[in-house]
Amino acid sequence: MSYKNSKKLYKKGLKHLVGAVNSPVRAFASVGGNPLFIKKAKGSKITDVDGNSYVDYVLSYGPMILGHRHKKVQKAITKALKNGYTFGASTNNEIKLAKIVCNAFLGMDKVRFVNSGTEAVLSAIRLARAFTGKNKIIKFAGCYHGHSDALLVAAGSGLATLSLPGSKGVPEGAVQNTLIANYNDLESVKAHFEKDDDIAGVIIEPIAGNMGVVLPKENFLKELKEYVNAKGGVLIVDEVMTGFRSTFGGAQELLGVEADITCLGKVIGGGFPVGAYGARNEIMKMVAPLGEMYQAGTLSGNPIAMAAGIATLKELKKQNPYKQFEETAKILEVILTETAKKYNINLTVNRFGSMLNPFFTNTEVTNFKEAQQSDTKKFAVFFWEMIHNGIFLPPSQFEAWFLSSALSEKDIKKTAEAIDKAMETVAKM
Ligand SMILES: *Cc1c(COP(=O)(O)O)cnc(C)c1O
Repeated sequence: MSYKNSKKLYKKGLKHLVGAVNSPVRAFASVGGNPLFIKKAKGSKITDVDGNSYVDYVLSYGPMILGHRHKKVQKAITKALKNGYTFGASTNNEIKLAKIVCNAFLGMDKVRFVNSGTEAVLSAIRLARAFTGKNKIIKFAGCYHGHSDALLVAAGSGLATLSLPGSKGVPEGAVQNTLIANYNDLESVKAHFEKDDDIAGVIIEPIAGNMGVVLPKENFLKELKEYVNAKGGVLIVDEVMTGFRSTFGGAQELLGVEADITCLGKVIGGGFPVGAYGARNEIMKMVAPLGEMYQAGTLSGNPIAMAAGIATLKELKKQNPYKQFEETAKILEVILTETAKKYNINLTVNRFGSMLNPFFTNTEVTNFKEAQQSDTKKFAVFFWEMIHNGIFLPPSQFEAWFLSSALSEKDIKKTAEAIDKAMETVAKM
């Protein structure tokens, strides 16, 4: 396999792009080596600029749940393009997508479309504050909720327990209203509420996916919701990753919990920039133009993006691939754990629906601290061996692998063979 063209483009990209990328994870910093540049993708496969083809478990970090360029989605986009790209006025497709989304989520009467998950979350937090009249927000260490100032605290690396900015350029003032709790630890949430009566609510990834895949313990979310509501706060469930992915109604449906405010992104736009936040009428009526919480967007509800979202969600509903995802993820888990055992490598596999994560560690992983015990050097070796054998994985120990409904048995077989070779290489380290 040659990576000549990727190398060339990387060098070229460094001149006018920051690190040759537009989102840091794409620079492959945590696995080292030259990042791959992509030419195209179709179905379960992605092809780089050197013509190497890979089974794709990145799927643009989640959105491409049907695989790339599904023909119904492609058709819908092509049709929408003929009518114009953006109007600054409402279209019927916004109403259609809103109906699909509100019908999928139990506690959602109304939804507002935005352009990214980051935007969905920062708006949801403003809404929680507007609704409760309180200022502070509790987030969990290791959960990522986009790159807005107030949420760049303990967001998947370092600074795990202090309300200190996780990035240069974020003033302390911007995070002083952000409190940190530990995932799967209700007591750590209670401790904040007992000391503070200015807490608007709690935000959580229902299935954490940004510290690797970490599952909530039995009833953790239900108990969290009950407690937070009893204290007069709202529960914001960030389903940007899990919405339409865990199952059609998101992780909430599977975990039997109803968010006060839900954030969506990724799958909802079918590969185009769409985010959304939604809630029951009582809360959504705070948002302008109905209420006094301001939030706006020039390209929000973009017609092409709406068309892609509608086509994706309709097809997803029709395919109903969730049982298949569960089976495929289970097969991959068994392959990963058995191969690791064969080569005497410590490995813990976490999975939920169509997301999974092999952690190079011998302990269970139920929170950020445990996730961080993983051997990232082993992961880096594993990652590159998988690339050399035609499998495209997220270039970080702490990013989830995603499944698409385009994945075939042949793809799984190829993946299993690559895993064997990669583990063999890891064992030689
Ligand atoms: C990806 C993600 C975000 C941020 O979404 P962007 O579209 O990248 O801004 C927020 N929350 C969660 C849980 C995510 O996985």
